[in-house]
Amino acid sequence: MSALGEKPFRGPQVMQWLHQYGVDDFAAMTNLSKALRARLSEAATIIGPRVKLDQVAADGTRKWLFELADGNCIESVFIPDDGRGTLCVSSQAGCSLNCTFCATGAQGFNRDLTPEEIVGQVWQASRLLGSKGQSQRVITNVVFMGMGEPLLNYENVVQAIRVFLDDVAYGLSRRRVTVSTAGMVPLIDRLREECPVSLAVSLHAPNDSLRTELVPLNRKYPIAQLLDTCRRYVANDPHRKVTFEYVMLAGVNDSPAHAQELVTLLRDVPAKVNLIPFNPFAHTRYQRSSQATIDAFRDVLWQAGLITITRRTRGDDIDAACGQLAGQVRDRTGRRERWLARMAPGN
Ligand code: SAH
Repeated sequence: MSALGEKPFRGPQVMQWLHQYGVDDFAAMTNLSKALRARLSEAATIIGPRVKLDQVAADGTRKWLFELADGNCIESVFIPDDGRGTLCVSSQAGCSLNCTFCATGAQGFNRDLTPEEIVGQVWQASRLLGSKGQSQRVITNVVFMGMGEPLLNYENVVQAIRVFLDDVAYGLSRRRVTVSTAGMVPLIDRLREECPVSLAVSLHAPNDSLRTELVPLNRKYPIAQLLDTCRRYVANDPHRKVTFEYVMLAGVNDSPAHAQELVTLLRDVPAKVNLIPFNPFAHTRYQRSSQATIDAFRDVLWQAGLITITRRTRGDDIDAACGQLAGQVRDRTGRRERWLARMAPGN
């Protein structure tokens, strides 16, 4: 606005129109003069990601396949729950980490999303969900648990988060924005200093040898380092906890002994544990742990006083559950091909 020679308060006005009222046309911004609206239309365009697919699951979970300007497709998932609505957003087209149990990892990596492509998911989803103004906000929480490793796209993710937190845009509190990471230790520290939103860490195993097998990034940042960083993350706030995600893979990481090992590991970390029943996808070698196994695992954690919840599997009839988001990215790494070859019979 300053560059256009306008008063600075016009900026927040435009932000409100865009993000709280979801308008996609400057002409609709009726508290701006006609002349200014005309100038804005010449200087800028308002475009969000194109909706390629819009699916609603039996439980109300809604998944969008969004097409970006360059043809890459990413997925976002809306999860309604009593009194809140969580949008799960993607931070990259594909993912460069190669976690063995994740569909996004298996499809390779194309590129980082720009800040506008990250915000665009929330913008487009709010519009499609019929959000109007701050009072009728449908999206109350944003989680970076879609495609990609958010901390490997640090700058753009933080820029987008600033829009989610901004009162003239989405006005979410820091607690209601969650970054989930496979464990990029130095960047967790940077996030704590620069933008301390809620932190979730994909732990998935109680010791280094098993974790390295499941989350290869563990080779670079082993568990002891990761947990040190987690302790630092919440050290200044006695009410905060780090959420540890733990995918339940039958016969791999789900025994009572693993649960006991996890209890010991997390003894002095302010932690919540989120058990995620494994969600299968094509060609995977893993199976979901049985409900009885998951309950037994949870009971060991409960008996030790660890806050533990089993994540309800949402939207699995439309492949919208954790780890099933695969979009349609143009893999530039060749990983998808190598992966399929490895999965082929005889290998
Ligand atoms: N890269 C980030 C965010 C992506 S995924 C991270 O690693 O945290 C969000 C969560 O879903 C992570 O905990 C991830 O490990 C988990 N997940 C991945 N694949 C899964 C699957 N097939 N079933 C269940 N959870 C899965």
